Amino acid sequence: PYKQRLLVVANRLPVSAVRMGDDNWKLNISAGGLVSSLLGLKGFEVKWIGWAGVSVTDEVGQKSLTKSLAKERCIPVFLDEETIDQYYNGYCNKILWPMLHYLGLPQEDRLSTTQSTQSQFDMYKKANRMFADVVNKHYQQGDIVWCHDYHLMFLPQVLKEFNTQMTVGWFLHTPFPSSEIHRTLPTRSELLRSVLAADIVGFHTYDYARHFVSACTKILGLEGTPEGVEDQGKLTRVATFPIGIDASRFIRALDLPEVQEYITDFRERFAGRKLILGVDRLDMIKGIPQKLLAFEKFLEENPDWCSKVVLLQIAVPTRTDVPEYQKLKSKVHEIVGRVNGRFGTLTSVPIHHLDRSLDFHALCGLYALTDVALVTSLRDGMNLVSYEFVACQALKKGVLILSEFAGAAQSLGAGAILVNPWNIPEVASAISYALNMPSEEREKRHQLNFMHVTTHTAQEWAKMFVSELDETVVEAQLRA
Ligand code: UDP
Repeated sequence: PYKQRLLVVANRLPVSAVRMGDDNWKLNISAGGLVSSLLGLKGFEVKWIGWAGVSVTDEVGQKSLTKSLAKERCIPVFLDEETIDQYYNGYCNKILWPMLHYLGLPQEDRLSTTQSTQSQFDMYKKANRMFADVVNKHYQQGDIVWCHDYHLMFLPQVLKEFNTQMTVGWFLHTPFPSSEIHRTLPTRSELLRSVLAADIVGFHTYDYARHFVSACTKILGLEGTPEGVEDQGKLTRVATFPIGIDASRFIRALDLPEVQEYITDFRERFAGRKLILGVDRLDMIKGIPQKLLAFEKFLEENPDWCSKVVLLQIAVPTRTDVPEYQKLKSKVHEIVGRVNGRFGTLTSVPIHHLDRSLDFHALCGLYALTDVALVTSLRDGMNLVSYEFVACQALKKGVLILSEFAGAAQSLGAGAILVNPWNIPEVASAISYALNMPSEEREKRHQLNFMHVTTHTAQEWAKMFVSELDETVVEAQLRA
């Protein structure tokens, strides 16, 4: 039977390629949320378009990689090292990422990088055109094109210039900040206009969508309506689609012998102590120093707990070559050292900190065994760790402490304890409250979260976005 084709365009393919020989490639497939959400999308033939994570400049390499990737339904965009440096490390990670998360550069740095920013933006646009070229080459009439994230804000416009009939959606996986923040970008108007070329623009939360609409009204002088943004009678639909996880993948994993083994092992290791868990990339936005300070304050105020609780912090390395991230790592290590020095005993320390990632089975084991999950993001598009924790807690019914600045606070707010991560005493009290919470309250809160996580799945998210995109296009045709 005929299946409509969905071209999913993202900076990174869900596959990382490693070169083993001239024309020999090893592909590592990542099982992130986006991949599983689209696996569950019935009735569509999905193709991925994006960068495979390696620079390949020779023809033999490009041809053979293209062929290998085709088996995984992936189509590569080849970006050379200079493009990656300027577009990805530069404009995406140094300008857009901090801006979207309210982390502006210090004024001095921003001033000194103004010049290089211009060339980075030019490269950003050039890279977006390279993505567009690949989409155009593979596009067939009737396809749906779904562009992802801040790396590709220019793509909707380039695609529509090529073909006004193309159905194009764009989804942002990060927050969209207050228009007062977006306003400071020299490229503010160009970015908004290019995104608006899409038929539909999606965000995780109502607030992010509202910020985007007000950026369009204030900066571009367009009209905001309940449906979206209108420009001379042309409507760009703006809507919210909170992402979820493939909850059943986590629930099923708990029965696997590998995961059960981890659980038994961890249970022995942490015997007699309550387990507080943090799982974050080591990024400024995750508020790890704030979390450690709050835990320190909790220990100060509750000396009885010192030997009865452990904070296990998994800090997954990210952007390790960037000086700001190296500084963050030293800062975190400094606080961990101090707290353990102050509150440790001969046989145990209160913070168990790891600079590494875990495999899926170990992670599930930890989620299942945890008493309190502690998420203190200063800004976070959604935060899937909080969802994954809830999915694994059917037996334990532990407590989720969740930053009000994570998108997830909009959906798990009823079951979680919401905190302002900047308010250290408040987070310290929340830890105490969570550890002492009576089981009836824990159960009630868990039930609310569990219900949400198992019904608002990644598959539902993808389905909603694509069907809304379809509808928007049909309505536009009716109006025309
Ligand atoms: N994760 C992982 N390995 C680890 C720790 C975490 O793959 O060692 C995954 C985790 O399961 C989650 C993702 O990384 O799916 C983090 O997503 P989140 O939305 O919480 O934050 P992001 O890193 O995207 O900002």
